[in-house]
Amino acid sequence: MIDIESLIRDIPDFPKPGVVFKDITPLLMDAKAIAYCTEELANLTERQHVDKVVGIESRGFFFATLLAKELNAGFVPLRKAGKLPYHTLKEPYLLEYGMDSLEIHEDAISKGDKVVLHDDVLATGGTAQAACKLIEKLGGEIVQCNFLIELSFLRGSDKIRRHDIRSLLTY
Ligand code: 5GP
Repeated sequence: MIDIESLIRDIPDFPKPGVVFKDITPLLMDAKAIAYCTEELANLTERQHVDKVVGIESRGFFFATLLAKELNAGFVPLRKAGKLPYHTLKEPYLLEYGMDSLEIHEDAISKGDKVVLHDDVLATGGTAQAACKLIEKLGGEIVQCNFLIELSFLRGSDKIRRHDIRSLLTY
């Protein structure tokens, strides 16, 4: 058992005043913590059959690929608009100020694929909600939305509540 909470540092006023940002880079620098988190994230899925782990740009990529390896599944990147080279589906979502959008390659998920969505942090839930829409538009079946950290006071889970939502740490 590793105290991963001690490897996540709070950065006040990042990226803007009033926000306390959870910085996971100390955790990523620790080899034992990487192995521990990968195994524990995989355990959250109860090791059920998974075809694809979908990771959200950019911090979601770190553990999504490791989780895919652990679950013997493929990895699919969800990226900000304009970054993926092939044909894409796009989903806009609301930020605190303005809009952003996520894209997925249109051949990344086959109809009926069992999919785990992974990101580092669930905050207000807008990003995860857009990700779920893209996965479902391609016919994927979301078996779990899986996070390192859930900031429960921001109530992001309300936006994806139809799904099984799990995280290693909840604040
Ligand atoms: P949401 O759409 O849920 O408000 O924001 C989630 C997205 O913003 C995630 O992709 C996540 O990487 C990023 N994010 C929001 N707050 C934090 C934070 O405190 N720490 C980290 N590492 N990422 C955050």
